[in-house]
Amino acid sequence: MNIEDPTLASRRLSAAKRVVVKVGSALLVDAQKGRLNRSWLESFVADVARLRQRGQEIVLVSSGAIALGRRHLGLPPGKLRLEESQAAAAVGQIRLAHAYKELLEHYAITVAQVLLTLGDTEQRRRYLNARGTLNTLLALGAVPVINENDTVATAEIRYGDNDRLAARVAQMLGADCLVLLSDIDGLYTANPNEQPDAAFVPTVEEITPQIEAMAGGAGSAMGSGGMQTKIAAAKIAVGAGCHLCIAKGAHAHPLQRIEEGARCTWFLPTATPVAMRKQWIAGTLKPAGEIFVDAGAVRALHAGKSLLPAGVVRSQGRFDRGDTVSIVGPDGAEIARGISAYSDGDASRIAGRQSAEIETVLGFRGRDEIVHRDDLVLLRNP
Ligand code: GLU
Repeated sequence: MNIEDPTLASRRLSAAKRVVVKVGSALLVDAQKGRLNRSWLESFVADVARLRQRGQEIVLVSSGAIALGRRHLGLPPGKLRLEESQAAAAVGQIRLAHAYKELLEHYAITVAQVLLTLGDTEQRRRYLNARGTLNTLLALGAVPVINENDTVATAEIRYGDNDRLAARVAQMLGADCLVLLSDIDGLYTANPNEQPDAAFVPTVEEITPQIEAMAGGAGSAMGSGGMQTKIAAAKIAVGAGCHLCIAKGAHAHPLQRIEEGARCTWFLPTATPVAMRKQWIAGTLKPAGEIFVDAGAVRALHAGKSLLPAGVVRSQGRFDRGDTVSIVGPDGAEIARGISAYSDGDASRIAGRQSAEIETVLGFRGRDEIVHRDDLVLLRNP
């Protein structure tokens, strides 16, 4: 196990371009009174504002809707029935969103509420829409506050815990850092509540079966939303090239504390999000179709540019926006693979046109590029 320089480790947060932070219910809501933990939230929001000021993009995945809403409906303590939690979430979410809005507004930061259900990250078309909206919000300087849409999510179609939801969001947005603020300061070799001699694990370079075993088996004292779901989230995050940090959130200024070297566990990815994405594109076994391009486009792609409609001659096969396609040069050889921003029909209609004409031809304003360079891998050299 590595002992690493904590300031170096904390740069993973301070130097990240796009950061997702998951905030657990226990931090936001006072368990006894069922009220918002306002002073904690103020300190957290001050941290978020500081990161924004440094030019970092922030996405919050916040729990707390059910915990906040139940008191207002007079629901008893203890486990709620599904319909009761759905009702509580509807009442609590509006309060939660309002609290973020009010506090972030002090720093002139615009808050956007986004409620997701499982299908929004698992079904391609909805995934693309959710990703598009979130990217637009970030580009316009807003801070999205995401939660699961508990009011309509039923038992079979829910993420169930926001650790995995946050990891899916980090993956979807190509974030470079995901922080899970929790009630524990990181991973231990065993459950520290049961085994006081459990050792702290500062860094995980690979999620081995031993690491998974440290999180405890099913039904462990930490239960759902416990260490197991955090390891599941870590697998998703590191697989997408994103660093993941499990840190204790209960103190004031939890993000600042991580930057100052407070104890936390870092899970390290093996590559950057763009590299992981490109690896995935290059590994597509069966591209859905082909886009034939002219010699000028071949030169542009080799110079690291995106594929614009102007360089496209025609397309072949059936593909949708978001599918992987082969890009074929005038000599018939596949030169690249990439994710098409247009369906085969739309790609054919805008082939040979200037990007400025896309809206007139298709009736909507899509991306300027048919395949953006971040979504493109060259297969051979000129
Ligand atoms: N979405 C739930 C809520 O806002 C919380 C899920 C979780 O705690 O992970 O109340």
